[in-house]
Amino acid sequence: MSGHDHDHHHHDHAHGHGHDHEHPRLSDLQLRVKALESLLVEKGLVDPAALDVFVDTYETKVGPRNGAAVVAKAWTDPAFKKQLLEDPSTTIKSFGFEGRQGEHMVVVENTETVHNLVVCTLCSCYPWPVLGLPPVWYKSAPYRSRAVSDPRGVLADFGTRLPDDVEIRVWDSTAEMRYLVLPARPTGTEGLSEADLADIVTRNSMIGVETVQYPPRREAAQ
Ligand code: FE
Repeated sequence: MSGHDHDHHHHDHAHGHGHDHEHPRLSDLQLRVKALESLLVEKGLVDPAALDVFVDTYETKVGPRNGAAVVAKAWTDPAFKKQLLEDPSTTIKSFGFEGRQGEHMVVVENTETVHNLVVCTLCSCYPWPVLGLPPVWYKSAPYRSRAVSDPRGVLADFGTRLPDDVEIRVWDSTAEMRYLVLPARPTGTEGLSEADLADIVTRNSMIGVETVQYPPRREAAQ
């Protein structure tokens, strides 16, 4: 075996062969979805373009709202935040967002001195109970390698520039451990309600490629 040190059950297989269910433990679900999709398209029952819109909606709109609600509550309720950092899986489950058995959530907090960035270097492990489906770039080989070798370069690609003295910590997700970034609450948001705060929390800020801006900047077409 070539020298990766993950101990979870990833296949280290070649990329660029046109399918994205590289994760053995997610693949049964993903395969079922793909099989269903192929069947529906084949029978002329759905338009693939419409499906893409649906997937995009789940990636960028519906899915990440779960995480945003968790983040907004952590920003406004110190006891909840403490609980979230200490026992993330249980706390997130209390929101009704549940992963498959055996997945543990880890919440990593951005501070003035530490910025966290999440990747899965081998495939596409992602905290889907709180973020929905991973974006295409998250699964791409360049992101997976550069997040480790050049995290500041990756952040710059997303328009994120951090002071040089901010330490960047990169977290490599596995089948067992899924990371959620708790972004820093931006200044100027003191008067916002929990719901309004949730609205400004972007998916990308919970992966760690962006920070939360207030007022929010226009969403990138990622
Ligand atoms: Fe993975």
